Amino acid sequence: MLYIGCHLSASKGFLAMGKQAFDIGANTFQFFTRNPRGGAAKAIDEKDVKAFLEFSKEHGFGKIVAHAPYTLNACGADERVRNFAFEAFCDDLQRMEYVPGNYYNFHPGSHVGQGAEKGIELIADLLNKTLFPKMTTTVLLETMAGKGSEVGRTFEEIRAVIDRTELNDKLGVCLDTCHISDGGYDIINEPDKVLEEFDRIIGLERLKAIHLNDSMNPPGSHKDRHAKIGEGHIGFDALMKFIKHPALDGLPINLETPNDIEGYAREIAMIKAAY
Ligand code: FE
Ligand code: FE
Ligand code: ZN
Repeated sequence: MLYIGCHLSASKGFLAMGKQAFDIGANTFQFFTRNPRGGAAKAIDEKDVKAFLEFSKEHGFGKIVAHAPYTLNACGADERVRNFAFEAFCDDLQRMEYVPGNYYNFHPGSHVGQGAEKGIELIADLLNKTLFPKMTTTVLLETMAGKGSEVGRTFEEIRAVIDRTELNDKLGVCLDTCHISDGGYDIINEPDKVLEEFDRIIGLERLKAIHLNDSMNPPGSHKDRHAKIGEGHIGFDALMKFIKHPALDGLPINLETPNDIEGYAREIAMIKAAY
């Protein structure tokens, strides 16, 4: 089963996102929980949420993915940065329960010179302070390109965060194809090997969502610049081969390619035709 969608603007609410997704041929989507630069989140409109839940059920949507703001850095060196991460994360997790059973994806963080080990410790700290037993949301650690001091470039770093988190049955992973290619995993020539490695180190049962992006840069470049599908270094065929792997069956796959809504509609149609 293919659940394909893209990143949408959340400004008009859940039902509007559901309808927009449906209009462009999608059956899942991703959105920011708040302005990516931070700041307060919009109040939840329970009527809107209810209408969305009905709409998505009626149209057979897969799970949806909320994305934490980019500025959220669980392992910043500055305490204010970590406090913002804590506040936003807590608040987002509470709000996610209005759309139960979905995903909340975040960038593990940048250790800004403190070292990956310290970064991992601080990220697990945040998770240990914010995850709660009754939550229905699964929190996803996104695989990163390794730009600057990003934590999460390797499967081992992600595993280390999971291992240090008490309620780690609430954790999963979102694999970003641009990021892992930039991070040095050869999904172009050896997609099966990459997933085998994922399985060995993290476990494929943790793989919950995909960000489908081509990359403007060659493998191992640690740059994180997304390209349109088929217009980057990974290429259309390699991306299609990757998402057809049985381990990815039924996962929400979201595009974060540099596109307007028409561009997303075209990419979704292209992917569905080749799936
Ligand atoms: Fe992301
Ligand atoms: Fe991503
Ligand atoms: Zn990216």
